[in-house]
Amino acid sequence: MSTVINNYIVVVCVSGVMSVLLCIYAMLVKTTFSGIRTFVWMSLFCAIYTFGFAFELASDSLAEIKFWLTIEYLGMPFIAPCCLILVFHYLDMSRFLTRKILPLFFLIPVITVVTISTNDFHHLFYQSLYLRSDAPTPLVDIVMGKGYILHGCYTFACLFVGGILLIRRLISSSAYRKQILTMLITLYVPMTGAFLYLMGLTPYGMDPVPVLMSFTSGLYIWSILSMGMLTVAPIARENIFDSMRDGVIVLDINDHVVDYNPAAMRMIPVLDASAIGKSIHDISFPLKEGQAANAEKSGNPRTQHLEQDEYEIKWQNGSETSYYQIRSSPVIKRDGKHAGRTIIMIDVTERTLLHNELHLLATTDGLTGIYNRTCFMELCRKALTDGQSKGGTFCLILLDIDHFKSINDTYGHAVGDRAIQHAIALCKPFIRTEDVFGRYGGEEFVIGLPDLSIDEAGSIAEQIRSALASGPLLTPAGPLVITASFGVVEAATAGHSLEALLSLADEALYQAKRTGRNNVQTALA
Ligand code: GH3
Ligand code: MG
Ligand code: MG
Repeated sequence: MSTVINNYIVVVCVSGVMSVLLCIYAMLVKTTFSGIRTFVWMSLFCAIYTFGFAFELASDSLAEIKFWLTIEYLGMPFIAPCCLILVFHYLDMSRFLTRKILPLFFLIPVITVVTISTNDFHHLFYQSLYLRSDAPTPLVDIVMGKGYILHGCYTFACLFVGGILLIRRLISSSAYRKQILTMLITLYVPMTGAFLYLMGLTPYGMDPVPVLMSFTSGLYIWSILSMGMLTVAPIARENIFDSMRDGVIVLDINDHVVDYNPAAMRMIPVLDASAIGKSIHDISFPLKEGQAANAEKSGNPRTQHLEQDEYEIKWQNGSETSYYQIRSSPVIKRDGKHAGRTIIMIDVTERTLLHNELHLLATTDGLTGIYNRTCFMELCRKALTDGQSKGGTFCLILLDIDHFKSINDTYGHAVGDRAIQHAIALCKPFIRTEDVFGRYGGEEFVIGLPDLSIDEAGSIAEQIRSALASGPLLTPAGPLVITASFGVVEAATAGHSLEALLSLADEALYQAKRTGRNNVQTALA
């Protein structure tokens, strides 16, 4: 046997050993990569093929060669479909590999195995198989049969399709370029070798693929070590888009809906397939003013769309209220041209409701629902300064329930609470939207009334007093008449502090208590 052939056999064996090592590595590695099992099988098929080929080269007779050829074909026909399946997994397209479709990948390889092992009966795979006369060692040459052509075409088709899928991803993805390129080489290098072999351009018509596979196995080992190949795999962008928790709507430059993800559909049920191509405004999506709606008016939609914006919307879905944080960002194509924009919707309902609840707790009084003292002071101070700056009037009504201790003592604390709530309910119809109504102390309440004279405020206090006196609280022990005393004050001249006004109102209230309670006393600051 010539040295060239000997060396060739050694390289082929190295290739086989590398395939075995890759197979063992893939079996043992901990990974979430869905294609790892395919990789195990692929490495195993490669090992069968290469070792079979090594034995074929070392064979002395045609019968021996035929035997090892059959062994080779137990691995070789399965390698290309495994490669294609691996590409599907790697590109996160494994959803196409259903239980029904997957076996179809191996239909032709199985036919190949059956045809080659029964070739002597029908000669469908090899029309003839003979020893070459020009080779220094027994090497076989063949005349292809239909089965061989079928197997060859299928192998090329698998590798070709796999390559095309990889190239497509290579063009669109900036990450994983090296890994995808590596896979592409592992696909196209053996394919080129096989092509040269079939064209009869290899020395002594020898199959160069097993040797080339030592190169591709080496490339795999290198990329496993340097790039985490097989342990980290890219996830298709459409899968990320579809499984995002946040809703995404993609609009073109004219604000027509181009795409949306399932989360967006859940958030905005009117968003369905029929929404594609429609204007976002037609599905009554609340785009913030100053965005597209105004873009036409401004005559420059492009600059409007290029703005990044963030705002919150309240979305009513039947009886359910949701709050979404909306983030609108421009979509810029690779060539720098503006293509539209994305609307990202983040569900902030829970956070908003909690915030609202905390705000309510911090600003209102739990028993009555009106402002607590701190919030009252803040809002009333602002109303007073606003009024003073505009030269308007400002009045305060301070009221205190009469003999409340005895209500508590006689009817109990719970009825006392209800009495407070009842008094507030009777006050409310007299409170204007611009008024500030708060709980000043235990059963003492205060109303800040902008733009009213002392007479008008006094009249309101009188109406409340009368409403209280004539609207008893119904208790199990019978109707309970609640009365209150009122101190009303007007900041007739500017420059009075809220504290000073409250102190005057308190004096007037004290006066009302002293003059028999259930009456209104006024004072001018
Ligand atoms: P006056 O006519 O002079 O105002 O007599 P009063 O009994 O109402 O006297 P005062 O205003 O000093 O009494 C306040 C009482 O209100 C004392 C306190 O026990 C009671 N109180 C304060 N806050 C609450 C409350 O939230 N619920 C109940 N049930 N009682 C309260
Ligand atoms: Mg009282
Ligand atoms: Mg009191």
